[in-house]
Amino acid sequence: MTNHTPLPPARGCRDVPILKERGQREVFCGLTGIIWLHRKMQDAFFLVVGSRTCAHLLQSAAGVMIFAEPRFGTAILEEKDLAGMADAHEELDREVAHLLSRRPDIRQLFLVGSCPSEVIKLDLARAAERLSKVYAPHVRVLNYSGSGIETTFTQGEDACLAAMVPELPATEARELLLVGALPDVVEDQALSLLAGLGVDRVRCLPARRAEDAPAVGPNTVFALTQPFLGDTHAALEHRGARYIDAPFPFGEEGTTAWLGAIAQEFGVRPERFESVTAAPRARARKAIAAQAADLNGKRVFFFPDSQLEVPLARFLTRECGMEAVEVGTPYLHRGICAPDLDLLTEGPVISEGQDVDLQLDRCRAARPDLTVCGLGLANPLEAEGLRTKWAIELVFTPVHFYEQAGDLAGLFSRPLRRRAKLSGLEQLPERAAP
Ligand code: SF4
Repeated sequence: MTNHTPLPPARGCRDVPILKERGQREVFCGLTGIIWLHRKMQDAFFLVVGSRTCAHLLQSAAGVMIFAEPRFGTAILEEKDLAGMADAHEELDREVAHLLSRRPDIRQLFLVGSCPSEVIKLDLARAAERLSKVYAPHVRVLNYSGSGIETTFTQGEDACLAAMVPELPATEARELLLVGALPDVVEDQALSLLAGLGVDRVRCLPARRAEDAPAVGPNTVFALTQPFLGDTHAALEHRGARYIDAPFPFGEEGTTAWLGAIAQEFGVRPERFESVTAAPRARARKAIAAQAADLNGKRVFFFPDSQLEVPLARFLTRECGMEAVEVGTPYLHRGICAPDLDLLTEGPVISEGQDVDLQLDRCRAARPDLTVCGLGLANPLEAEGLRTKWAIELVFTPVHFYEQAGDLAGLFSRPLRRRAKLSGLEQLPERAAP
């Protein structure tokens, strides 16, 4: 335990009753994760086996890349595939052969399932196994589902990483594994802080290149950087690795607690922890304070979307002075989120799943100052006079650790500041006509 272990409130949310809803949902599908995963894994290719809708989603989410060779694509299932009139496996084999002959730089190929491939029960696990035998050892072929049938958009990353875990080599080494696809610059900051603490046998999942893939075994300890990695967590435990339980590294307090848990695991002395973290902690607090002035005393309502909702509610209430009205999350992994729930003061409704009409009614009745929600709900709510923040920005923007803590707070303060400025403009007296 470090001197900076955060003090929990008198009553946290770990044991509060959860409002569980199972109705209509408004979320993106798991294909969205390809946008940040393909940037992270520099020799991987993501081949979505899906429809034109899937191709459009990817293209519009990623922007059209004209000059670069993209590292994702869609093998389009045509009507004859969907009607079972063609052998989709044969067509897939042809597509993969064509792709790999053109792109010798590809070392990992992910066959990504979609709603259409799942509806016609195309067995991509069998296809991956077959293709792996053909292209090994140069290319490893894996599969996972990014379909929207039962997922929310961050589950795509979880499914991808969980698919990699059984293939990782075994080790007896005592190593720390950081799990979650962070932007390189943010990952480097974490590695530098850990090196400062003397924790230097650190590997990352996913690795930037296939040849750097980590090994895993009974002496591996792992820390998650994202709360939506439940299946990956289970897969790593299945390989004998042990989880380091901690709040997530959002904000100064979350980052300090996350680093503190690792420091404790590796026996780092408190003085060393203090000397390594004091300056970045101070910078983070200052950066958050600059944004928190606009957030203090404001009420926030989370619709379920990114699965980051619980740690973010902890950050906004404890470090930015906000009050949480409802913290909705698509799935609540109590084991993973328990340290954040402990630090979240009892009071907000904690809801899991969604019945969007009922939740909209609750939101309209509460009239929060800020609503964090998906793109589909943001515009209608703005039209009703509510301020919104798109949840998807939270995974596209670097928000982890000390140096990004001010930017994280800024993501929430900006919509409120913009509104204040617009109201100011509306209140300006009209200029007299010349
Ligand atoms: S996977 Fe499903 S939800 Fe996602 S774009 Fe394709 S059809 Fe739509």
